[in-house]
Parts: sequence; C-alpha cells; structure tokens
Amino acid sequence: MTTLTTKDKKIILDSIRDIQDFPKPGIIFKDITTLLSNPKALNTLMTHIEERYKTYDLDYIAGIDARGFIFGSILADRLGLGFVPIRKKGKLPYTTVAEKYSLEYGFDEVEVHIDAFNDVKNAKVLLIDDLIATGGTAVAAANLINKVGAICVEACFIMELGFLNGKAGIAAPVYSVLEID
Ligand code: AMP
Repeated sequence: MTTLTTKDKKIILDSIRDIQDFPKPGIIFKDITTLLSNPKALNTLMTHIEERYKTYDLDYIAGIDARGFIFGSILADRLGLGFVPIRKKGKLPYTTVAEKYSLEYGFDEVEVHIDAFNDVKNAKVLLIDDLIATGGTAVAAANLINKVGAICVEACFIMELGFLNGKAGIAAPVYSVLEID
C-alpha cells in the first residue's frame, strides 16, 4: 500500500474548488468538477486509490449517486472489477432494496438492485463517494450492501469533513484521501 506524498496530496487538494454558500448559505461546497477536468490531479488520485485497493481481493466497487459513480467506475475498470450504483430513490429500474437516512429536515432514501452482487457469494465490496459530511448517506449505503448479502469491507472517500465525525456510524473501516478541517 502506498502513502500519498505531500506533493501529490497538494496536487489533488489544489484541484478541488471551494464554492461558498452553495447550495445554501453557510455551506462550503467542495466542487470536484475541477479535479475531474485536471488530468494530472485525476490520474494522481486514481493511481493512489488503485495502489491501495489492488491487494484487497475485492469483488465489486459500489459508488454513491452521483459523484461516487465517477470515481467508482474508474477504479472498477482499473482493478478489473464490476461497478454497482447505489442510487437515490426511484432511479433504478429493477427490484430494489432501500435504506432510509435522516437529513437536517426529514428523510432521504438510497436503493440498490436486489441482485446487484449475486454473481459472487459473500461478495467483498468497496464503497466509494467523493465526500463524507455527516455520514448519513454512507451509513445507509453500507447497510444496503450488507442487506443484499454482500460485505462492505471498506468505505473510501476523496474528502472527509473531519469535524463532523461522519465515519463514526459506518460499520466498516473508513479511508479518506484528504481530511478537511
Ligand atoms: P452526508 O450524508 O452528510 O455525509 O453527505 C454526503 C453526501 O453529500 C455526499 O454524496 C457528498 O457528495 C454531498 N456533500 C455533503 N456536503 C458536501 C460539501 N460540503 N461539498 C460537496 N458535497 C457535499
């Protein structure tokens, strides 16, 4: 497993744009579109994640709607694995299993196809998303993987808002490339 050098960390961090007060006042939105359009930063990031997970003997990569799809698909292809989308409610066409999670006001729901991991018994799955804040989305997504008979062996995030301690509720080890205070 390789550790990210200070230089590489800076290349990735510098490529992410902060948008003040989006989508509402008080939120600093971490915009990864500028990372995606920067070939050096994207390659540095994906090579680091690939190096980490190539020895994990994974069966699938599962990505969270929607930015987790991008990093998850690239990683799945690099590792020669299949990719499974975990989507917001109402988007997946086949029979799904759902998991609710709380938002500041009310609830949201994520879903996965009931047979998403069926090709491998007790499939070992890496969950990936761009950012973990309160952890609500990731906790629900990890629970979903386990609900449909697979095993969430780790959850990986490009960024973690450390002060929110969102990883506390995830029933799997967590790896974050960048910790943001
Ligand atoms: P949470 O469930 O609170 O951990 O929120 C995580 C989800 O919301 C992820 O899918 C992120 O893409 C998105 N998200 C939350 N906060 C931010 C932020 N400050 N910047 C960008 N995306 C965010």
